[in-house]
Amino acid sequence: MAIDATQPYDDSNIFAAILRGEIPNKTVYEDEFALAFHDINPQAPLHILVIPKGAYVSWDDFSARADAEEIAGFVRAIGHVARTHDLVAPGYRLLANIGANGGQEVPHLHVHLFGGKRMGPMLMQR
Ligand code: AMP
Repeated sequence: MAIDATQPYDDSNIFAAILRGEIPNKTVYEDEFALAFHDINPQAPLHILVIPKGAYVSWDDFSARADAEEIAGFVRAIGHVARTHDLVAPGYRLLANIGANGGQEVPHLHVHLFGGKRMGPMLMQR
């Protein structure tokens, strides 16, 4: 079910539990600012989620409250994951679902990184 992205951060969400090490994940990259891991229900041959380590609900929340270092670190982590998975030449897709209309289900900001096939039309149906 899609979330209300205007709610305060709720640290019972599943990605917060992953960051605390309470739930296993298939990590592909981690640094001070971000964690990247395989999506449990992949929608493409390669489907990685990149999340900031800080407690942010949405892009709006992150862009309003995160400091410049956190924002740079998160953006760089996404680029690093794309490069280290050889996605730059073939291309890939980034997607961030925000709030109810965006279809966001987990209330911790995450960017989906899809690769390994032609993605087709910009909006994906589910
Ligand atoms: P969204 O709809 O943008 O909030 O996407 C949430 C994503 O999190 C979905 O693609 C799920 O498959 C994924 N997901 C949920 N739980 C886990 C988990 N424990 N490990 C990895 N991915 C997860």
